[in-house]
Amino acid sequence: MRILVSNDDGIYSPGIAALAEAATDFGEVRVVAPDVERSSSGQAITASAPLSYRATKIRDLTAFRVNGTPADAVALGIHMWSAVDIVVSGLNLGFNLGNSIWHSGTVAAAKQAVLLGVRGAALSIPAESDQELESLKTWVHRVLRTLIDEPALRLVNINLPRSPRGMMWTRASVRQYDGHIVSMKDPKGRDVYWFTVTALEGADKGTDRWAVEQNWISLTPLQLDLTDHTLLKAVEERLPLDGSIALKTSESQSSPQAVKAVREQEAHSAK
Ligand code: MN
Repeated sequence: MRILVSNDDGIYSPGIAALAEAATDFGEVRVVAPDVERSSSGQAITASAPLSYRATKIRDLTAFRVNGTPADAVALGIHMWSAVDIVVSGLNLGFNLGNSIWHSGTVAAAKQAVLLGVRGAALSIPAESDQELESLKTWVHRVLRTLIDEPALRLVNINLPRSPRGMMWTRASVRQYDGHIVSMKDPKGRDVYWFTVTALEGADKGTDRWAVEQNWISLTPLQLDLTDHTLLKAVEERLPLDGSIALKTSESQSSPQAVKAVREQEAHSAK
């Protein structure tokens, strides 16, 4: 079993070393991660600059640092090491609950793996818990065992509270959040702004946030398809547009020319 370990806190974070060491009990481990912290970078990729991949020293682990985002590191890591079985990302120092899933580079590293056909999992622990990594080790081990034994779990977001009582499956507590812009002055007196995010109060029972509030380890299976299938069905009936004509009068398989034209139109080439 080949386990690629990445993160968004940067390759020298104590969290990634702890995760990689826990993973060594399950197979061959290689660490490939951003050379500096890239938290909240989401699934950004570096599309207009070259990337480097350089060996580095992390305890006794095989490790490579990448001058890019978590998604870059995972793409490069999978490319450089064939037949990767699973990508695990973390241990992020700070939970990734509900809304955070959208911004998280930790979760994005796992999503990137799934986009490349490899299973992915993201693991987050409380911020400022780097002194408690040892006490969480048994739980990290149990989480990894659960994931590895269940190949149907393609993409999972995991959050571990400080003193877990056990583990449970949850759904994401995605709600509108309280996003504030805070303005201040830079040293030259110019206006600058910080975007700060606070979760709205009150998480529903059975959600990731609720589980962690109650000291349960939260495991949320995720999927990449963002389509709202319930709403899709409803609007197709209530407001059919031209969909039925389109389905009736168009080929099931687009012509090679059409496929090529659309690919060219979505290419990110700066001309
Ligand atoms: Mn982070």
